[in-house]
Amino acid sequence: MSDAVHPGWAVYDLDRLLANLAAIRGRCAPGQSFIAALKGNAYGHGAVPVARALDGEGLAAFMTGSFDEACSLRTEGLRTPVVMFAGALPEGMADLVRTGLVPTIVDRAGAEAAARAAAPGEAAPVYVKVNAGLGRLGVPLEEAEAFLLDLAAMPGLEVQGLYTHLPFGDAHGRDWAAGRFAAFDALLARLEERGLAPPVTQAGASASVAAGLPDRSNAVCVGHLLYGLSPFTDASVADVSAYRPVLAEVGSRLVQVSDHPQGSDIAVAGSYGIRRGRRTGVAPVGAAQGLARPAPGSRPEALIRGRRAPVLAVSLEHLTLDLSDVEEAAAGDAVLLLGGEGDAAIGLAEFAAWSGRRALDTVLALSGRLAAHYRGRAGGATRI
Ligand SMILES: *Cc1c(COP(=O)(O)O)cnc(C)c1O
Repeated sequence: MSDAVHPGWAVYDLDRLLANLAAIRGRCAPGQSFIAALKGNAYGHGAVPVARALDGEGLAAFMTGSFDEACSLRTEGLRTPVVMFAGALPEGMADLVRTGLVPTIVDRAGAEAAARAAAPGEAAPVYVKVNAGLGRLGVPLEEAEAFLLDLAAMPGLEVQGLYTHLPFGDAHGRDWAAGRFAAFDALLARLEERGLAPPVTQAGASASVAAGLPDRSNAVCVGHLLYGLSPFTDASVADVSAYRPVLAEVGSRLVQVSDHPQGSDIAVAGSYGIRRGRRTGVAPVGAAQGLARPAPGSRPEALIRGRRAPVLAVSLEHLTLDLSDVEEAAAGDAVLLLGGEGDAAIGLAEFAAWSGRRALDTVLALSGRLAAHYRGRAGGATRI
């Protein structure tokens, strides 16, 4: 389908993804393994193209959220094992195991179901999740040692990984997480003493990597930093400016430029700006494509011909712009909501600030609603 039918696109830069991975590697100890968090359609960036770009990077695993997402990776013939975040009932374990996925186990019923699903004479590979303090999912930390001893004696089961999750967004959270990392590390030490050393152990994620928390596990599982998103609500915890957003451009084209007689009072539905001039332009992207309605007091802008044009309104299917400062703008001109070059660039932080949403929520909202183009190592621009 030609761009002219309904112009609206998002460009994801896979070279930035690989550069972010390299920056993460640079912060970790030599020999550390890496798991890429691909849940939520790779945080809105497209699980399949992201997985293809990462498959040659020697990662310990891809972690996915939904069964559909995991199956879409399995059919790609990737080399990297696909681990499912906890989300299955015991009755669902057979489907996961027989699809070649690695389920997360949080209790004995799930472990038994996975073992039963293993082919005769084989063992179902699983990861075990421990609740080390987040209070969400997992085997309670105090019970983990006994649980793992139990599983070691269970035929048909092979514990390939042991993990927990300790995310934080600010300095208070960092101090809390440091204590919980130490508790998880103590569990690993006790297991080792008993001769139990799962091949993959992981507690670290974007926040702990960026903040440099001590971590005894042999792998980290990263999402935010991989996609160039900050895991922090308090930017003073650690500098993450080295990680560049993989979402590099969001654009559309003007489908109409209109002149309005001076002084006419044309209502612009959901108007945020004050129209100063007589010329407006409309691009066919709006809330239906995932654009946020600007927060009161924000002054969102878009780039046309390298110059800034105030956003007057975001309606369901349309974006209305004030073209007072871009008088020569014409139908067909590109409208960039994110992207551009040099001084005339709009970054993800500015784009996300329209609505007061976090950058991740902004990327998620656009996901799957605009034509997606991938640039970089994955082999030129691909449309999916
Ligand atoms: C999502 C997730 C991660 C990745 O977290 P980021 O903060 O995005 O790096 C790691 N581990 C688990 C268990 C997760 O659910």
